[in-house]
Amino acid sequence: MDYRHSHPDHHSRALTRLLHSLPKIDLHRHLEGSLRLSTMAAIAGDCGLELPGAQVEQFRHLVQVVPEDRRHADVFMSKFGTLREFYRSPEAIERVAYEAVADAAADNVVYLELLFTPAALARKMGFALEDVTAWVIGAVERAQADFDIDVRLLVTINRHESVELGEQQVEIAIANRERGVVGVNLAGAENHYSGAPFADVFRRARAAGLHTAIHAGEWAGAESIAEALDVLGAERLGHGVRVLESDRLVAEARARGITFEVCPTSNVQSGVAPSYGAHPLGAMVRAGLRTTINTDAPSVSGIDLTDEYAHAVEEMGLSLADLKQCLLNAAHAAFLPDAERAALVARIRAALSDLPLS
Ligand SMILES: [Zn+2]
Repeated sequence: MDYRHSHPDHHSRALTRLLHSLPKIDLHRHLEGSLRLSTMAAIAGDCGLELPGAQVEQFRHLVQVVPEDRRHADVFMSKFGTLREFYRSPEAIERVAYEAVADAAADNVVYLELLFTPAALARKMGFALEDVTAWVIGAVERAQADFDIDVRLLVTINRHESVELGEQQVEIAIANRERGVVGVNLAGAENHYSGAPFADVFRRARAAGLHTAIHAGEWAGAESIAEALDVLGAERLGHGVRVLESDRLVAEARARGITFEVCPTSNVQSGVAPSYGAHPLGAMVRAGLRTTINTDAPSVSGIDLTDEYAHAVEEMGLSLADLKQCLLNAAHAAFLPDAERAALVARIRAALSDLPLS
């Protein structure tokens, strides 16, 4: 995948090789944050899209966090605005979806829950939400046939967009339950918008048998987590790293077995954590919370899941045993029927038992 920065020199090569070889699980990866830079250049060429230059280095700063960027949620979000320019044709959307799965498989991700936002893919060209959804599903099915990876999809709704648009997308999720859509997710500008107006939308999704994961406790504090759990019925929290601001919520999350989808580099780049070393993941693990490690937006962040595992072990204070537990937590939290989830847990457990990760 051509969007990755090289592994930092201080990450040991032997560790990186080991982590790369592990069968991994990503529960929180946005399709709209998983575009190869070379594909963007090709789409721009095909569609006559104006970029500052045809070379990747000339437009990288528009679509990826670069060292000069201010570490702020608004800057991080701005990259997704530019990325919407590339969803120009059915072929472009299918290509991006296929490659997102291929790139995860190349990193030995064996189970991926891919978040996608029909409204984001449809907006630029005025495509129908149903059509972009069908293109994504078809491409993901083809990629699963070509690579050793299982993918499930979560339709993602932005809290900074209208409730009506959210309702429309939930209906599309419900209509595609038989084609790999297993849940709905609330994302977007948490620092500016409450999720409460979407309570009925998520109630409707749950009633139809869909799972729910909510971005909360990332760009807003503990009150946003309380809202996600109590008002929106979240089974898993996207990020949730600010849970440590409230002892009551830590206890509640532990009691309810809430899974946290932690995405370290995303948090550092959007200013949630000042550095890897100061990131709360280690404290969350020690607090007995059910944590997992994920990528969020790998092409925006310039990382893959192996990088995130390496950061966790080498800079964030996790032991290899902690890392192993995070991976098992992810298997247990997969939005799969019981028998399939048990098979995934067994596969991960068997792979880990062969490795020096005690
Ligand atoms: Zn996210």
